[in-house]
Amino acid sequence: MATTSLDIARGNPHAPPIDTGPGPGGDPCPSLIGVSRGGLATALQTQGIAARDSRMRASQIFNWLYVRGATSFDAMTNISKSMRTDLAAAFTLARPTIVTEQCSTDGTRKWVLRLADGNEVETVFIPEPGRGTLCVSSQVGCTLTCRFCHTGTQQLVRNLTAGEIVGQVLIARDRLGEWPGHHAPTSTVAGPGTGPGTGPGTGDGTSTGAPQRRITNVVMMGMGEPLYNFEAVRDALDVVSDGDGLSVSKRRITLSTAGVVPQIARCGAEIGVMLAISLHAVRDDVRDILVPLNKKYPIAELLEACRRYPGVSNARRITFEYVMLKGINDSDQDARALVRLLKGIPAKINLIPFNPWPDTAYECSDWGRIEAFAQIVNRAGYASPVRTPRGRDILAACGQLKSASEKERASTRLARARAQAQDAAPSA
Ligand code: SAH
Repeated sequence: MATTSLDIARGNPHAPPIDTGPGPGGDPCPSLIGVSRGGLATALQTQGIAARDSRMRASQIFNWLYVRGATSFDAMTNISKSMRTDLAAAFTLARPTIVTEQCSTDGTRKWVLRLADGNEVETVFIPEPGRGTLCVSSQVGCTLTCRFCHTGTQQLVRNLTAGEIVGQVLIARDRLGEWPGHHAPTSTVAGPGTGPGTGPGTGDGTSTGAPQRRITNVVMMGMGEPLYNFEAVRDALDVVSDGDGLSVSKRRITLSTAGVVPQIARCGAEIGVMLAISLHAVRDDVRDILVPLNKKYPIAELLEACRRYPGVSNARRITFEYVMLKGINDSDQDARALVRLLKGIPAKINLIPFNPWPDTAYECSDWGRIEAFAQIVNRAGYASPVRTPRGRDILAACGQLKSASEKERASTRLARARAQAQDAAPSA
């Protein structure tokens, strides 16, 4: 399959402006990205702005950042020039920088993003008729070592901050031209369903025409285990769902967990988003291998936590993800056991064809097997869509993240080594 790839950080003149400036003296200033409106007001007070004023100013800044997509204090024209100068000296609005942007033949886009400390994470946009889902990372790497997941072969480097999580949404909106008066940058190579690109965004937020919403849903299903980075994920999702900002309703945000049982009730109470569980097996002996976290929190405990998930109802079902692995978890008997296990839990079942990666020990179940499995689940009354793999050609599908950035880095290193070798070679 043909794919298009764009190297943005390495000198693309059309890339939208990104404010990454360190503060005076070279020390990074605290970032205001990912800070709640209340937190913004407090931050402004540290700069000598009076408490009453600070709330109004915080609302203005919040609006500039999350409704208009401003990337610098300079753009915030309803704030006095001198205050803007002071703010720019004290805080940063830096977003992660884009290393590469790839667009799959099916319209899926994947960004490799570089964080201030040089670490990289990946964010994926999946357009579908009537909706667009942004798959966001919560950690650099992962501790879980799920056997079928390529991200799991990568050690945890660190948790992302709330700002780095929100920053992924902001970058996606930049690149999709989703801010009022902005358009998708022409440098983007559009695929099916991604819409036309008509020019780079200005970043000044001065125009008011609201573009059609591209990101309708957010899923915490990228790299990492979101419930092992609870506070940052909670704070970030509060900002993403704030009705005076990015305004993605909590019913359109899904947090996926491999089953960190002690945090599940807290997730419902403090975050209040839709829950997805990476179940993948119906017996502890199988799940112990596929998802080693199961040895700590076995299936019965996990499902008990789901039964008690705050707010769960037929209108707000829990999604159970089940990756189809040939000969491992895909028999008719497994399907019947799955139905029995989920009895009494308002549930949706997502069957995910396994996305292969180099050197994996697993294979995807045959299509006929997946259909037979789905039929048993359907007959039991569950809508069980088989999730069409998206973005496989750019390694953006479930479980393929990070591997690609490592591969890219490896190929970049190789290219550099070759160039250096050529440079070093004595000319004839
Ligand atoms: N740690 C969280 C978030 C990751 S979400 C969790 O485990 O839920 C990524 C989803 O993709 C999970 O359901 C994961 O189990 C699934 N996945 C991982 N590797 C996969 C692969 N190679 N093919 C298909 N799905 C995979």
